[in-house]
Amino acid sequence: MAVDLHLHSNVSDGTDPPAVLMELAARAGVTVAALADHDTLDGLEEAAGAAERLGIRLIPAVELSVDHEGSKMHMLVYFTEPGPGPLQDRLAALLQGREERNTLMVDKLNALGFEITIEEVERQANGPSVGRPHIADALIERGYFSHRNEAFADLLRDGGAAYLPRTRLTAEEAITLARSANQVPVVAHAKTIPVPDGGYRALFEDLATIGLGGIEAYHSMHEPELRDHLAELAHSLGLAATGGSDFHGIGKRDYKIATGTGDLRIPDWVVDDLDAQRS
Ligand code: AMP
Ligand code: ZN
Ligand code: FE
Ligand code: FE
Repeated sequence: MAVDLHLHSNVSDGTDPPAVLMELAARAGVTVAALADHDTLDGLEEAAGAAERLGIRLIPAVELSVDHEGSKMHMLVYFTEPGPGPLQDRLAALLQGREERNTLMVDKLNALGFEITIEEVERQANGPSVGRPHIADALIERGYFSHRNEAFADLLRDGGAAYLPRTRLTAEEAITLARSANQVPVVAHAKTIPVPDGGYRALFEDLATIGLGGIEAYHSMHEPELRDHLAELAHSLGLAATGGSDFHGIGKRDYKIATGTGDLRIPDWVVDDLDAQRS
């Protein structure tokens, strides 16, 4: 038995369709899974049908990129049922921001001598959440690179020659919208947040007062010591400790479902932690 509360399908920038993703999860022994595509809930219906057939409990989720006091972080929001809702309604604006930014990034790439079109970029995606990974795929299709990582390193990374920022919510907005609909906001892969040495406590104390529900402690990118530290920190603040691989199919080929880069062990109790955050 295994759990994995952070999976991406090709409705955003993973490479497997939602139903296939659930089959892969079942094969990995996963009994509780969360689909957390970037900025969109469009994969949830297909995933739910497959999960039911496979005997998996699917927790619907979404992953947002948010700003907080000058730094960027990713926020997972759990229990995002499809259909209208305060957060759901904001996703449309985020997708619109992506469209505008993609067009401008293609212009930048054209000016740099890379011959790709916005149509080619959009064709790489299976849904509305189109972004840098799909721009990378279009560049690969044209023969400029052989893997997404290379395109990011050369051009697309934050601050890279073709990079442009996009519309984002603040952490406070995301937390407030989520909590207003009994959804649970959780900070993803804290390792990517620039904090002063050992400074996670101050950050999470601050976010907990706004309504944060949890910290993703067990993530492919976290060393075992960091996982334990973040889980303890979460519990000391009355927050859930959660975990997920951040599986993207071959888009991030080192991250496997449930086991991450090999030694990830996500305790089953993270599901109880998460459930306990709902009222
Ligand atoms: P965007 O949301 O369009 O700004 O694209 C950011 C997404 O690109 C992240 O959420 C990751 O899933 C993905 N990403 C970031 N760095 C890399 C990389 N080096 N290789 C592949 N995918 C990446
Ligand atoms: Zn992604
Ligand atoms: Fe993320
Ligand atoms: Fe992710």
